[in-house]
Amino acid sequence: MLRLDNVTKVYRTGTFGGRTVTAVGGVSFDVLPGEVVSLIGESGSGKSTIGRMILGLTSVTSGAITVDGSPVRPGKDYYRAVQGVFQDPFSCYNPVFKADRVFTLIKESYFPRVSAAEWTERVDAAVRDVRLNPGEVLGKYPHQLSGGQLQRMLIARALLLDLKLLVADEITSMLDASTRIDVLNLLAELKTRGLGVLYVTHDLSLGTYLAERTVVLRGGAVVEMGPTDQVFGDP
Ligand code: ADP
Ligand code: ADP
Repeated sequence: MLRLDNVTKVYRTGTFGGRTVTAVGGVSFDVLPGEVVSLIGESGSGKSTIGRMILGLTSVTSGAITVDGSPVRPGKDYYRAVQGVFQDPFSCYNPVFKADRVFTLIKESYFPRVSAAEWTERVDAAVRDVRLNPGEVLGKYPHQLSGGQLQRMLIARALLLDLKLLVADEITSMLDASTRIDVLNLLAELKTRGLGVLYVTHDLSLGTYLAERTVVLRGGAVVEMGPTDQVFGDP
């Protein structure tokens, strides 16, 4: 479903052809529907750049990224199928949080073929699915929620959108232990609904164990890839 084919990203820094940084060099892997793939690597190994390219937030220098055969095309249709959840759910580079009330954020995912009444019902159900109280959260502004609540709201949004792919970038690092387990259980649930998840992390975190497969990055290149237990079982 998600396919990266020999993807390279070169950042140009400075003016007049200054320095270049090859953040990602010739990376290929895929994520199938209902599969969690963890993308693991030290800080600076290119993980976020890969996430940002998949989300259309930065361009691909060469190679191709496709979702169900179509290239990344930022816009409403693309974001109906592909969404990102980031470490800092308030991070300003996620334009989702420029929305005003949480209800507006959720309403954006409006699926035009249902009645307003049915839509309200679905929104409430999705919010309850992530174990939040619709009456309590939907009237608030995103900054009035805790990080864990907001991350759960994003997962509720993913449920409503009927997403194909979720890019989860270091999502558990800001959460306390019990919220972390809640969020990971929700990811496991999304997976049973056929959603593909790219789980980006810099260390062996709990989420890694949700992943059937693991891709290990070093210096912008894939150094290891395979079933998670095999990758971590290696001496
Ligand atoms: P990770 O998410 O694994 O920490 P990144 O994708 O953030 O890695 O960074 C990979 C490399 O690209 C690093 O060397 C980083 O300094 C560089 N880099 C990231 N973003 C930019 C940018 N906007 N401009 C220039 N270099 C960047
Ligand atoms: P359009 O108005 O072209 O239909 P959107 O309003 O959906 O597009 O998105 C506008 C821009 O916001 C995109 O080009 C993209 O950079 C960014 N964007 C939208 N949604 C997300 C998201 N969930 N995660 C990251 N970036 C997003």
